Amino acid sequence: MKTLKIAIQKSGRLNEKSVELLKNCGLNFENYKSSLISPVSNFPLEILFLRDDDIPEYVQDGIADLGIVGENVIQETEVEVSYLQKLGFGKCSLKIAVPNNTNILSIADLNGRSIATTYPVILNKYLNELGIQSDIRTISGSVEISPGLGLSDAICDLVSTGGTLKSNGLKPFADVMSSEAVLIGGKGSENNELIQELIQRIQSVLRAKETKYVVLNVLKDHLDAVIQLLPGVKSPSVVPLAEADWVAVHTVIPERDFWDRISQLKQAGAQGIVVMPIEKIIL
Ligand code: ATP
Ligand code: MG
Repeated sequence: MKTLKIAIQKSGRLNEKSVELLKNCGLNFENYKSSLISPVSNFPLEILFLRDDDIPEYVQDGIADLGIVGENVIQETEVEVSYLQKLGFGKCSLKIAVPNNTNILSIADLNGRSIATTYPVILNKYLNELGIQSDIRTISGSVEISPGLGLSDAICDLVSTGGTLKSNGLKPFADVMSSEAVLIGGKGSENNELIQELIQRIQSVLRAKETKYVVLNVLKDHLDAVIQLLPGVKSPSVVPLAEADWVAVHTVIPERDFWDRISQLKQAGAQGIVVMPIEKIIL
């Protein structure tokens, strides 16, 4: 079968998480050191390490079969690729931000004003849809300092915590798009067995990340109350213990409501609660 190629970011915000995800999928490869291409020893796959801006085009043109890249980069490069899977990391939003002491108070106030950005395509679309005409100034980096230097009235840039905006005397003003890392593929990805197998592996790793494996002990008298607190699980395993009145319950709990659930379980009589990470969940 033809060896697949997957393009990931060479260095930067998405590199580490992309490598970690692929390794968690059971793929063995040397991480990028000096070569820009790394063969996987136990799957017909090669990893290409690239600048993130180049990834969508490489995938569109079929040079890489798959890519891991932020949605913002895909939208900005306007390529035709298929979104195969959201990956849950690299979360950020593209926002318009203005100086703290600005007189831009509503979206309409952006008319005729200048906005510095590295995302002119996305920003232009956003403003067009709102019927706003601004002067978009495309620059290649350090966007946050441009209002302070008198180069623009506002900026449009990626924000995750907002710390960089704050330290440059800026405040968020409007959300243009939210983004996270996604797996993309070219035409025909749906019919490629190897790609489908890789997607299944990725999904089993993502599912596992969202849940914890929990084992707890409970008196048989309190078992029903405890089980009622475990919705969403088809049937938790109930295992008898050496002490006749006690049983152990094994189950999985979604990470997002984890602490609420644990304190409710304790109140219902659960004891000796052990929580373990899950490596993979294969449906
Ligand atoms: P490259 O050298 O590969 O071109 P880059 O400097 O363009 O890298 P990074 O800063 O490494 O890009 O960001 C990569 C991606 O990480 C972004 O395109 C975005 O999807 C995501 N991201 C998450 N949080 C942020 C953030 N706070 N600022 C910028 N990007 C972020
Ligand atoms: Mg880049």
